[in-house]
Amino acid sequence: MQEYKFFDQVNKAFDRAAAFTKFDKGVLAQIKACNDILHIQFPIEMDDGTIRVIDGYRVEHSHHKMPTKGGIRYSTMVSEDETMALAALMTYKCAVVDVPFGGAKGGIKIDPRKFSVHELERITRRYTFELFKKNFIGPGNDVPAPDMGSGAREMGWIFDTYRQLSDDINAEGCVTGKPVGQGGIRGRTEATGRGVFFGIREACDNAEDMKAIGLERGLEGKTFVIQGLGNVGYHSAKYMIEAGAILIGVAEYDGSIYNEKGIDLEKLMAYKTEHRGIAGYANAKNLETNTAVLEVECDILIPAALENQITEMNAPNIKAKLIGEAANGPVTDNAHKIIKERGALILPDSYLNAGGVTVSYFEWLKNIQHVRFGRMEKRFEENSYKKILSVIETISDRKFTNAELADLAKGGGERDLVDSGLEETMVNAYNEINELRKHHNVDLRTAALISAINKVGFMYEGMGIFP
Ligand code: NAD
Repeated sequence: MQEYKFFDQVNKAFDRAAAFTKFDKGVLAQIKACNDILHIQFPIEMDDGTIRVIDGYRVEHSHHKMPTKGGIRYSTMVSEDETMALAALMTYKCAVVDVPFGGAKGGIKIDPRKFSVHELERITRRYTFELFKKNFIGPGNDVPAPDMGSGAREMGWIFDTYRQLSDDINAEGCVTGKPVGQGGIRGRTEATGRGVFFGIREACDNAEDMKAIGLERGLEGKTFVIQGLGNVGYHSAKYMIEAGAILIGVAEYDGSIYNEKGIDLEKLMAYKTEHRGIAGYANAKNLETNTAVLEVECDILIPAALENQITEMNAPNIKAKLIGEAANGPVTDNAHKIIKERGALILPDSYLNAGGVTVSYFEWLKNIQHVRFGRMEKRFEENSYKKILSVIETISDRKFTNAELADLAKGGGERDLVDSGLEETMVNAYNEINELRKHHNVDLRTAALISAINKVGFMYEGMGIFP
């Protein structure tokens, strides 16, 4: 069997799903195409005074809705093909969870661990300047976010650079995933992992679907393995553990570890921060390779690092019954077939890691409406609940304690509302794609893409073609 390039892989899955839709091949070709591709090379002065040329990309995959949206990856693996594939996935992901954006993606081809903070800041600001000059950034046209190798700090630099170049009153909405003090939103950092947890929990709650893969309903007591303990991996693991699942294996770039009795996530994170990796961690067995732990006996496997990690080479050895694609593109097309034939369930990236873009959407809304969620209604809600509780006290013998009153009369603040909106989004989308899966007798990846193609296709059908 032959392995394909990442963008080809996404398109192969697209073609399988397109066969279940009614659009003509011209519309389908337009949905698949990348609308704008930017490759830039710019000079950066290093701390020692030397000059380095840096490669950067931004791909806007689909303009069917504006702005386009997608993270910026900092990695030596960044390429035009990878950025195109990730941008296309963003289009489908936004459609699956009804986030009204087109898809985009950016990349800077560097290993961020090999640059100082000042060098990273210069690279990020210059990249933003290049995007601005070429009209590839702005609250109404293209809005970046964090991805592998970048985080709130980088998004803060992007916003600060943009606002110096533009007098747009909505400038805060030019990028999401910013620090809260710079127009970010509470709950964005953990959003992707939180969404991964909601998605896996929803799948595990379906007794019939669990029975089909030989598992009991619910997360309690289920064992899981995670690859990549970064932003998405750490938060996914944290919420899985809080719900009663047991972390028995972790893979990182420098090694993989296993402990069937469970791994203490916080202790491992502290070790990883101190040693810049997990190799040598004492409270678990260190396995021979950094992918060996993907093949251990477990209920759930969560690849949360990077693409092309489960291929036709290791797929036959994977024993997990449920695979949750927290990363983008971790399972290749050939591997997907092998795992599907074995009868395991794959929760696809185009659905499962959409929590990040969902909360990015909330952040963008907050930025363009210039008001924090909950600011107008929180006190009003609390006062209404208090009135209801005092009526209950007068008509019954029940007297609430101060702690109960504080809990029962709590109005929704920004974090509560973001979390509730995220849960609603992930639960609804899961049920929508699971129904399509059953209706068409396909897998969840195909079902998610059928849902996305239908939503994007209707937009294109309704558009005039200019000039
Ligand atoms: P991150 O940089 O915070 O974490 C990635 C982790 O993977 C790091 O700990 C890194 O050391 C580890 N890693 C790198 N190479 C590895 C390898 N070969 N084997 C095992 N581990 C390896 O990145 P992130 O933001 O957590 O993103 C992870 C994945 O999730 C990516 O595919 C990204 O596109 C996807 N994603 C991220 C977001 C987001 O909001 N950050 C949203 C949607 C999807």
